[in-house]
Amino acid sequence: MRLRDKTILITAAGQGMGHAAAIACASEGAKVIATDLNADTLATLRDIDGIETRVFDVTDAQATLDIAQDLPDLDCLFNCAGIVHHGTILDVSDEDWERSVNVNVTSMLRISRAFIPGMLRQAGQTGTASILNMSSMASSIKGFPHRTAYGATKAAVLGLTKAIAADFVQSGLRCNALCPGTVDTPSLRGRIAAASDPVQAEKDFIARQPMGRLATVEDMTPTIIHLLSDDSRFVTGQAVSVDGGVTI
Ligand code: NAD
Repeated sequence: MRLRDKTILITAAGQGMGHAAAIACASEGAKVIATDLNADTLATLRDIDGIETRVFDVTDAQATLDIAQDLPDLDCLFNCAGIVHHGTILDVSDEDWERSVNVNVTSMLRISRAFIPGMLRQAGQTGTASILNMSSMASSIKGFPHRTAYGATKAAVLGLTKAIAADFVQSGLRCNALCPGTVDTPSLRGRIAAASDPVQAEKDFIARQPMGRLATVEDMTPTIIHLLSDDSRFVTGQAVSVDGGVTI
C-alpha cells in the first residue's frame, strides 16, 4: 500500500499506460481521479474501488481551471496524455506541429500550473508531493525516424520536468519524467494497423527493442508507482527510462 491515502490525478486513463496506472495506483491504496477524453473507455474503470472517473480533455484550458478548482489538493499528478504524429520534418504541417505541442506539452504546463499550488499545500503538511510527466525515449533521448513532432515535444517534456523540479526542490514537490520504450497499447496497435504492411510494421517495432519484445503496460506500472510514491523521495528532475535496453 505504497500510495495509501494519497490523492492522484491521472490524465489519459481510458486505455494504455494511464489505464494500467489508475488500476495499479488504486491497488496501492490511492484515491485515484482517472480522466480521459473518451467517456466510453473511462467507464471501464468506474466500478473499481478507489477510482473516480471524470471526462477531461487536457487541451481545454477552461476545463483545466475548473477541474483544479473542483478537486481537493493533490498529492500526486500523472500527466500521461500524449499523441504520436508519424512523419519526418517534411511531413509536419503547422497544424500537426501545433496539435502535438498543444496535447503533449502545453496541456502538461497548464495542468501542472493549475494543480501545483494545492500540491505545495499538501507538501507543506505531509512533506511530499510528486508529479510524473510522460515523455518517451523516441526522438527525445534517442533519434528515431518519423518522429519529428513527437520527439521534439517529448524532449520539451523533459525540459519542463527539470524546470518544475528545480523550482520546487526545497518545497517537497518532486517532478520526474518517464521514458518508455515501445509499449503494446491500443494506439501502438493502431499505428501498426495503419502501416502499409502491418506485419512488417510490427516486426520493425519489435526489432527496435533489444530485448526482442514489445513492453507491456505491466512493465511500466512498477516504475510509475515508484516515482509517484515516497519510495522515490530522493529522486527529482530525472528522465527515467524503462525501455528494454533501447538507450544502452
Ligand atoms: P494510448 O495512446 O493507447 O491512449 C492514449 C489515451 O489518451 C486515450 O485513452 C485517449 O483517449 C487519451 N487522449 C488523447 N488525447 C487526449 C486529450 N486531449 N485529453 C485527454 N485524453 C486524451 O496509450 P499509450 O500508448 O499508453 O500512451 C500514453 C502516453 O504514453 C502518451 O503520452 C504516449 O506518447 C506515451 N508513450 C507511449 C509509448 C508507446 O509505445 N505506447 C511509448 C512511449 C511513450
